Amino acid sequence: MATMTRLLILDDDLLTGQTIANIAALAGVDAQYVNEPQAFFQRIKDWQPDFIVLDLVMPGMDGVQVMVELARLGCHAEIIISSGVGGRVLDAAARSASEHGLNIAGVLAKPFSPARLRALISGNAKMDTLSTTFIDRLVTTPTESKIEISRDDLMSALHNEQITLVYQPKINCRTGLLAGFEALARWTHPVLGPVGPDQFIPLAEHYGLIDRLTESVMVQGLRWLAHLPQQLEDSSDFDYLRRRLREITLSINISASSLNNVELFERMNEYCQSMGIRPDRLIFELTESCAMEDPISSLNILTRLRMKGFHLSIDDFGTGYSSMLQLARLPFSEIKIDKSFVMTAAQSKESRTVIKTIIDLGHGLGLYTSAEGIESEETLEYLRSIGCDLAQGYAIARPMAPDAVIDWLRNSRLKSESGRLQALRSLNILDTPPDERFDRITRLAARLFRVPIALFSLVDSDRQWFKSAVGIDITETPRDASFCSHAIEHDTVMVVPDATLDPRFKNNPLVLQEPKIRFYAGCPVHADTGSRLGTLCLIDREPREFSRHDETVLRYAARMVDNELTADFLAHTDPLTGMLNRRGFDTRAQEAIMLCHDVNLQVCLFLFDLVNFKAFNERHGPAAGDRALVEFSRLLRETFRGSDLIARYDDDDFVILMVDIDPLGPETALKRLRAVAGAITQEHPFSYNAGWTLLEHPDDSIQQMALRASEHMHREKE
Ligand code: C2E
Ligand code: CA
Ligand code: CA
Repeated sequence: MATMTRLLILDDDLLTGQTIANIAALAGVDAQYVNEPQAFFQRIKDWQPDFIVLDLVMPGMDGVQVMVELARLGCHAEIIISSGVGGRVLDAAARSASEHGLNIAGVLAKPFSPARLRALISGNAKMDTLSTTFIDRLVTTPTESKIEISRDDLMSALHNEQITLVYQPKINCRTGLLAGFEALARWTHPVLGPVGPDQFIPLAEHYGLIDRLTESVMVQGLRWLAHLPQQLEDSSDFDYLRRRLREITLSINISASSLNNVELFERMNEYCQSMGIRPDRLIFELTESCAMEDPISSLNILTRLRMKGFHLSIDDFGTGYSSMLQLARLPFSEIKIDKSFVMTAAQSKESRTVIKTIIDLGHGLGLYTSAEGIESEETLEYLRSIGCDLAQGYAIARPMAPDAVIDWLRNSRLKSESGRLQALRSLNILDTPPDERFDRITRLAARLFRVPIALFSLVDSDRQWFKSAVGIDITETPRDASFCSHAIEHDTVMVVPDATLDPRFKNNPLVLQEPKIRFYAGCPVHADTGSRLGTLCLIDREPREFSRHDETVLRYAARMVDNELTADFLAHTDPLTGMLNRRGFDTRAQEAIMLCHDVNLQVCLFLFDLVNFKAFNERHGPAAGDRALVEFSRLLRETFRGSDLIARYDDDDFVILMVDIDPLGPETALKRLRAVAGAITQEHPFSYNAGWTLLEHPDDSIQQMALRASEHMHREKE
C-alpha cells in the first residue's frame, strides 16, 4: 500500500468529487475527497498526495486563492485543475499556477471526459494502460462487461471494417447553404457495442495504429464523397442539389502523430486523383495543441499539405496555448471555435466574448471562421449576427450514417411554391437598389449573346421583379404575363425562338406591346435550398435561333448568378473600396474566362500597382493612403466597363479582367485611364505601373495570366 499513488480531490460538488474518487480508486489509486479548503490544506500536510484535482470555482474560496496558498506551502503534488468554466479561463489559471511554481498536470473541463482524466493521470508511470482504459469504460458504460480492448481487438476492427463513419453537415451561416460534412469515426465492438471515438482514438494512438485508422477514414470518406451525387434519384428536381454536392467539402480529423507521415498524405493525394476529387475539397482538422507542439516542423509539413491543395483547419480553437504569432505563420485556412464556448454561448457572456474575439482574429488573418456545438437556433442566429462563416451542431443536424444523409438532403429541400417564396423573401433582395454584382452578369450576358435586353428576374407571388436589367427601363411586370414564370417550371433553359408563333405567348401583352418580345431564352437561378427563384434571361426584338452550345453558355452565366446569391459577400469584398478582394476575384475570374473563351470573346488581364505606396503612406499617414486607394479605385471604375471584373488584389495592387476586347483594346484602355487620371485634381498625387496580358491558351489559369501581366509590368517599368 505504501507505493500506491495518492490523489486528493477538492470539489464543492459531492457527486463530482465522489465520482472522480471512485474512478481513481478502481484504477488502483488511493483517492480521498474533501469538499472545503480547510480540510483540504490539513490533508495536504498530513497525507502528502501525489496528485491533486482542484475545482476552480467554489463558494467561499476560489481555486486561484487555493493555488496561491499551495504555492506558499511549497506543494510538490501534480495539480489537475477542473471546472465548469470555459477552457480559456482554465488555461489562464493553469498558466498562472505554473508561474507560481506549481506543478500543473493539466486541466479537466467539466463535464469532464474520462479520456481526458485518464490522459492526465496516466502521465504518471505508476498507472498502467490496463487500468486507464478500464477507467474509460467504467465511466461511460458503468454496467458494461469488463472486457479489455487490446491491440488485437483494434487491429481486427480495422481489418474487418468495423470502424465506419458518420457525417455531420456544416452550413454557411449567412446563407444556410450546405458547405460540407465532417467525417467522424464510429466503432461498434462485437461484444462491447458502440465505443466512442474519445476512447478508441487515444487507444489507436497508444497502440501505434492511428495511421491505419486515419487512412481507413480517409478512404471511406473519399469514396462516400465521390458517390454522394449519384445517390439522389435521377430527377431534374435534384439537378441543382447534385451540382452542389460536387462542390461541398469533407473535413477529416488528423491526429498529431499522423501529421509526420508523409507517405500517408502522398497516398491521399493519389486517392483524390483516382476518385476525381479536387484536393481543395478536403479539409484536414488538426487540434490546436497538435499543430503547436512543434511549430517549426509543423510549418514545414502543413505548408506542403497546402501546396498539394488540401485545406487545413485548426480544431478546438481556444483550448490550447497557441500564440497569435504561430497562428498567423501557419498556413491554416479555417479556424474552428471549440464547442465548449459555443455550447455555452446562450448563457455565458464570457463565452460570447471569446467567440467574437476568435472570429475577429480569424477574419483579421484571412481565415474562414467556423463554430461547432451549435445546439440552438438562438446560438446560430447569434453567430450569424457576428459574422461567423460556417456552422455545425445538433441544431443543424447530428452526425448521420450515410443513408440518413441522403434522407436529410432530400428533406432539407423546399420544393413547394410556398417554400420557394419563403426562400425568395428570406434573401431580402426584392425591391432593393441595383447591385454591381448582378449588373456585371447581365451586361456580360448581353455582350456574350449580342442581345439588346438581358434580365435577372425574380418571380414573386404575383409579379416578376428585375433585380438587374440591361436595355429596358421597367422594373416589374405582372406574373401572368411573364415568360420567366414559365421558365422556372423546369430546371432547363427555356427557349422561345419566335414568340409570335408560340401559342403560349403570341397574345402576351409583352409581345404585342413594348418591349415587343420576339425571342426569349431563360435559365433558372436558384436559392441555396434549390428553389428556382427566377431567371437570367435574354430577349430580342427579332426572332432568333439558339444552339445547344448557346444554352450551355447561358446556363453557366446563370450559375454565376447562383453563386453571387449564395456567395459570402462580405468575405469577398474589400471594405475600403467596396471592390472585390482577392478571394472575390479569384472565385469569379476563372469562370468568366471560360465563358468568354467558349464564345470566342477575347479577355485581357490588367495589373496595376501604385508606385511607392508604402513610402507615401509613411509620409502622409494611413488616412491619406486610404484616400489615395479610394481615388484610384474610382479611376479604375470610370475607365473600365460594367461587365469587367475589377478588384483590389492586395494592399496597393489592383487587377482587372476585361472581357470582349479587340487587339488594340488594352492600350486604348490604358490611354483612357491616363486621360481620366490627368483630368482629376491631383489632391493625392500618385503614379502607377500597369501590365497586361491576353488569354493565350484556352486553359490559361488566372495565376498564369497574373504572372504574365506582372512580367509585362516589370518590362514596362524598365
Ligand atoms: P471533434 O473533432 O471536436 O468533433 C466534434 C465532436 O462534437 C463530435 O463528437 C460531434 O459528434 C460532437 N458534436 C457536434 N455537434 C455537437 C453539438 O451540437 N453538441 C455536442 N454536445 N456535441 C456536438 P464525436 O463524434 O464523439 O467525436 C469526438 C472526437 O473524437 C472528435 O472531436 C475528434 O477529436 C475525435 N475523432 C472522431 N473521429 C475521428 C477520426 O476519424 N480521427 C481522429 N484522429 N479523431 C477523430
Ligand atoms: Ca473535428
Ligand atoms: Ca472540434
